[in-house]
Parts: sequence; C-alpha cells; structure tokens
Amino acid sequence: MTSDLPAAGDSGWSDPDTLGAIPPVRTVTYCGHCGESASKKSHVLCRQRLEQGPPQYCPSCRRRLTVNETAEGWVAECKKHGETSGTITRA
Ligand SMILES: [Zn+2]
Ligand SMILES: [Zn+2]
Repeated sequence: MTSDLPAAGDSGWSDPDTLGAIPPVRTVTYCGHCGESASKKSHVLCRQRLEQGPPQYCPSCRRRLTVNETAEGWVAECKKHGETSGTITRA
C-alpha cells in the first residue's frame, strides 16, 4: 500500500461525515487527477498536476468532483464525501 499521494485535500478532511454508510476515515483509493486506482501506478505526473490545480476525482469514491476556484485555491465537492479545499502552489 502506498500513502504517498498529495496532501492537497488535507485542510478539508476534518469535516464531520454525516453520512452513516461511509466510514469517518476517508481512504485514498483513487488518484484525484486521473481517477485510476492509487496503487495501480505511481501517478508521479498526476501529483505534479495536483500541486498546481484542483483534483478531478474524489480519492475515496472516484466520483467526479464539482470544482470551484477560490481566491486562495479551490474547493472541490464530492456528492458523497463533501467538500475538500486546497491551495494552488504556483511556481
Ligand atoms: Zn493518477
Ligand atoms: Zn467521494
């Protein structure tokens, strides 16, 4: 198992999960950029993209995220897991 995915969503991950069917701990199962299994390949390029912009897929359930850009970065919303936010690192 790998745990080397980007921490792009860390700041939003403390939201209480009010959906009983979903465990409180969000597992990173899918790549937030390409939506493929996180353990399937290294996703090196994906991680670079995720440092520069919002994710496309929920890392827990692979749903397409609704992404809104904010002044500091972005807010991505999964219908099931709620909002995740992050800042965009510009070189
Ligand atoms: Zn990927
Ligand atoms: Zn989700």
